[in-house]
Amino acid sequence: MATIKSINPYNGKALKSYTTHSEKDVVDALEKAEERFQKWKNVSFEKRKHLMLKAAEELKKNKKEYAETMTLEMGKPIKQAIAEVEKCAWVCEYYAEHAEIHLASEKINTDADKSYINYEPLGVILAIMPWNYPFWQVFRFAAPALMAGNIAVLKHASNVFGSAMMIQKVFERAGFPKHCFTTLLVGSDAVKSIIEHPVVKAVTLTGSGPAGASVASIAGKNIKKTVLELGGSNALIVFKDADIEKTIETCVQARFQNTGQSCIAGKRLLVDVSIAEIFLEKLTAKVKTLKSGNPMDDETFIGVMAKENLSEELEEQLQNSVISGAEIILGGNRKSTYFEPTIVKNVSPKMEIFKEETFGPVLSVTTFKTEKEAVEFSNNSKFGLGVSLFSKDIKRMEELIPQFEEGAVFINELVKSDPRLPFGGIKTSGYGRELSKEGIREFVNVKTVYIK
Ligand code: NDP
Repeated sequence: MATIKSINPYNGKALKSYTTHSEKDVVDALEKAEERFQKWKNVSFEKRKHLMLKAAEELKKNKKEYAETMTLEMGKPIKQAIAEVEKCAWVCEYYAEHAEIHLASEKINTDADKSYINYEPLGVILAIMPWNYPFWQVFRFAAPALMAGNIAVLKHASNVFGSAMMIQKVFERAGFPKHCFTTLLVGSDAVKSIIEHPVVKAVTLTGSGPAGASVASIAGKNIKKTVLELGGSNALIVFKDADIEKTIETCVQARFQNTGQSCIAGKRLLVDVSIAEIFLEKLTAKVKTLKSGNPMDDETFIGVMAKENLSEELEEQLQNSVISGAEIILGGNRKSTYFEPTIVKNVSPKMEIFKEETFGPVLSVTTFKTEKEAVEFSNNSKFGLGVSLFSKDIKRMEELIPQFEEGAVFINELVKSDPRLPFGGIKTSGYGRELSKEGIREFVNVKTVYIK
């Protein structure tokens, strides 16, 4: 057992100390989770739906309490934290309403008298989750998992244990039977033995590439399925016929919301050289208006980064790129966890801020001369989560869609998650899908039935 402290990244003050669960605590929790699964898998969709709608109600009723926990622990502006809790309620409602339809048996015509597919729960699923959307990342896994009849066990990031405990409370307050959802307060060193435990049937991880690779290799050795939602470096491609004002609004949201700490943030702005000057001038003016400040203040749009080491890493990526010829046109300075909203131009594909994921409020800008070059720049990345295209020529944009090596293409909109649409990446952004019908079907046994 160890003690892990939650620290407010805005002022460095300790919030609370947590004693981690011992190995015995973990094994007990997993055994209880398995016992619960044996009952929960037989609970009707109607009953599960009722409880999931209660969870949605609970989130909406106490959204301020939940939002404040997140903001204090990881520096997200309070308004954005409240919006996150509301979105969690939405995903609960979505799966409450749709799980039964998504998992309905499917009749297939074969030479059998009757053949069909059943979608049945797998059992206890481990979720290893990050701190950037401490509630959303968990709910988008837990809502479909529980509605499918699985049991959820959460290992949350060590800096957001307060949020982790609160999430367990949401399910308890909603009336879910004990051990349907369990938070394990453990560090990443405990993950191997949890994955190896026989009751754990599959693992989902949202986080960095190295964490994903480590978890997937342990799960692979134990023949357990994984879903990985890792980093991204989405491009925002602005073609010369784009609506400049609207595109700027969208690009600013895409890059700077959540203080830039999002896997699907638009990190690389690619703009047609013929409009680059005016576009950058207006974009810079807009970014200057973003209000930085105490994340607990309603007007704050730019909070602080969740951990100081990540802010230092971002500064290093920026400085290395400047040494290679990039030019900072706005911001560029950092004080502790606060990083100024930053725009960098003259960025080439060889530079660190183009090649690596920048997990903070730094927008890199590269110009292109042709449509072909725009596509090449966009694909010139080890990541493949999503891309946003901005143009009035929707027909042409749709023709371009197959050219992009991405999990998602959004036209005239930022890449965003929506319970109704699948979410996930290709290349080193991971594999598998969350949300929608695809998401709920990741952790089920697709059972073939054949009757002669
Ligand atoms: P990590 O990937 O290290 O953390 C995410 C989660 O994985 C946490 O719960 C963490 O636990 C756990 N974890 C970390 N390493 C292992 C491991 N070897 N085995 C099992 N579990 C592990 O993210 P960081 O907080 O360190 O952020 C680093 C970078 O990752 C960011 O700068 C960003 O590029 C990327 N990232 C991407 C996210 C996304 O949404 N795709 C979210 C967060 C980060 P613990 O906290 O206890 O270490």
